Amino acid sequence: MERLCVDKDKCIGCGACIGIDNEHFDFDDEGLSEVISQDNLESDDLKDAIESCPVNAIKIESEN
Ligand code: SF4
Repeated sequence: MERLCVDKDKCIGCGACIGIDNEHFDFDDEGLSEVISQDNLESDDLKDAIESCPVNAIKIESEN
C-alpha cells in the first residue's frame, strides 16, 4: 500500500503542486499544500507535481 503525503514542515505554500495536480492537492487553512486524494497515484500529473516542488516536500511512501 502506498500513501501520498506532504511534509508540512518543508512546504512553503508556493502552490506549484496544486496548480499542476488539483486532483491530489489543495491548500489547507494555513496556506500549505494538503493531500486530498489517495486515488490514481500513478498519474502523470502527480509525477509532474512531485518534480515541481522546490523543497521536495511531496513523497509517496510505502506502508505495510
Ligand atoms: S509544490 Fe511543494 S512547496 Fe509548493 S505548495 Fe506544493 S508541497 Fe508546498
